[in-house]
Amino acid sequence: MNRTNPPAEEPHPAPPAVAKPAEPTRQERRLTGIAVSPGVAIGPVFGAIEPPAVVVRTRIHASDSGAETSRLEAAIAQSRKQLLKLRARLGVLPEDSQAEIAPLLDAYLQMVGPSRLVRGAKKRITEGLVSAETAVFDESEAIAELIQSMPAEDDDRAGRRRRAEEVREIGRRLIRNLTRAPFRSFTALPAGAVLVAEFLRPADAALLDPAKLAGVATDEGGADGHTAVMLRALGVPTVLGVPGLSEATRPGDLVIVNGTAGTVIIHPSPATLATARRAVIAFAREQQRLAKLRRLPAITEDGEEVDLQANLELPAELPLVAQAGAAGIGLLRSEFLFMNRETLPDEAAQYETYRSVVEAMAGDPVTIRVLDWGGEKDIEALQTEGIVPVTTDPNPALGLRGIRLLLRHPELFETQLAAILRSSAHGPVRVLLPMVSTTAEIRETRDIYERVARRLRRRGERIAEKLPPLGIMIETPGAALSADALALEADFFAIGTNDLTMYTLAVDRADSDVAHLYDPLHPAVLRLVQFATEAALRMRMPVSVCGEMAANPRLTKLLLGLGLRSFSMNAAAVPRVKQAVRNTNIDDCARFARKVMEQTDPAAIRQLVLGAAS
Ligand code: PEP
Ligand code: MG
Repeated sequence: MNRTNPPAEEPHPAPPAVAKPAEPTRQERRLTGIAVSPGVAIGPVFGAIEPPAVVVRTRIHASDSGAETSRLEAAIAQSRKQLLKLRARLGVLPEDSQAEIAPLLDAYLQMVGPSRLVRGAKKRITEGLVSAETAVFDESEAIAELIQSMPAEDDDRAGRRRRAEEVREIGRRLIRNLTRAPFRSFTALPAGAVLVAEFLRPADAALLDPAKLAGVATDEGGADGHTAVMLRALGVPTVLGVPGLSEATRPGDLVIVNGTAGTVIIHPSPATLATARRAVIAFAREQQRLAKLRRLPAITEDGEEVDLQANLELPAELPLVAQAGAAGIGLLRSEFLFMNRETLPDEAAQYETYRSVVEAMAGDPVTIRVLDWGGEKDIEALQTEGIVPVTTDPNPALGLRGIRLLLRHPELFETQLAAILRSSAHGPVRVLLPMVSTTAEIRETRDIYERVARRLRRRGERIAEKLPPLGIMIETPGAALSADALALEADFFAIGTNDLTMYTLAVDRADSDVAHLYDPLHPAVLRLVQFATEAALRMRMPVSVCGEMAANPRLTKLLLGLGLRSFSMNAAAVPRVKQAVRNTNIDDCARFARKVMEQTDPAAIRQLVLGAAS
């Protein structure tokens, strides 16, 4: 847009405080969500619920006022959607909690309707010729000040202050949605705190320091979304998808996050606290016991070797990989390299990172997946550099994701392939392509791959003599069902059961509203896993599972029975899965898998596999 910035005045930070309902009772309150990362955390709530929105005061040309109004309308629609979602989920809370939170959300919803705030902000854009952010900030401040300056009885002063704060809060929400606040800072997070937020993006999770953080709990999020995957990888006790959480807690409140049970307890009683402390000790003991498995081989009772590798989302996890006794990195998700920065990493920066991981693995294989942008993985630098549009794609999971984006932007792709190829001089490396659905995508990639290798050799760079294998993720039903054809072009398969489940069942993996429908044990998903595995085995081609299914020891028997012998998972899960491998034999697994695959009812499968009704 042709927006001019003439009088870019001082950045104007909107006040960071967050409007809250009247002081809630300090009685113990138990909320339930999705158990995402095991362990129990006890600590005070960290109050940086949302980053303060920074408004750079900007003037616009009259000809841009239409576009600016449209931006405001889009932010209003998005805010409305967020609030409606929070409101809809209150139903599961006890009545007294609902009675406390619902009126506040209703007041917010009214303000993003045909309200004075919205009318006033639009008028400021068209008549005052200021940017939408400036208009929202000025209008919400003006209304808040007016409310506070109105003559009133003394006892109404607190009420007026609260109403003024509500207007400011909705202004902040609109501004956050307008500016798509780039990334949060967690530097002020005190050691031992529990991070509570309405929503955490994968890019936010990438900034967390697991050594400082006790636990995480959010209102939104699903069991296998990327945020969940990252928190699990960091080994931080986490519960996501807890309705009403951020409105029910205040900074400093003592909470217990039980990532194994999926509960959050606010203001625990002394008895509850004592139980939680015992659970923390028991969990630590269990971890110590599992650590003893580190040096034992992953081998079944009848001598079948199983390959257990680790997924890596952040370099911070490398020490955990070593501790877990993983036999390599089966999935290095390279997105972290691109997140939380203004510009894209160049070949040298990427090479340094890949090389350090390859060297740290000291001869164990490292499977590096090329950038998988799309879905919920927002990467600002790709927007700044004009590679992906700033507008919200209505169907991001079905859009220009993974390999599709890379093939559209060969320069981005070639830079990453060059960096990976150079790292192959330092140890065994494999290259993995995300979201492949056609053989043409593999062929096109192989041409680029070989061209990049030739160019590097001409440049005198050291790369592995034999080009590293080029494999693909099997993570869409289309890819699974054409696995026999894809196997003719790819060097290996990595089955991504997270996206495979999402796309097969048309259920967003990160959406708490449909979390109850997200079921990797649905027969449709299992049949696709079986079909793809058999296609690979017929070709004698390596095949692994690197989705979250691989990390669940209760599924190990089934996956072994389907013929799989290679799994990659968050490092913390390796010992438990190793234990499951060591306690089974392949004949049993095969018989068990046949029995499971005869079932058509997901509930019956859950009963068989998990020993629990769904
Ligand atoms: C998957 O989809 O299962 C997978 C491993 O990839 P990601 O979770 O990064 O989408
Ligand atoms: Mg995936």
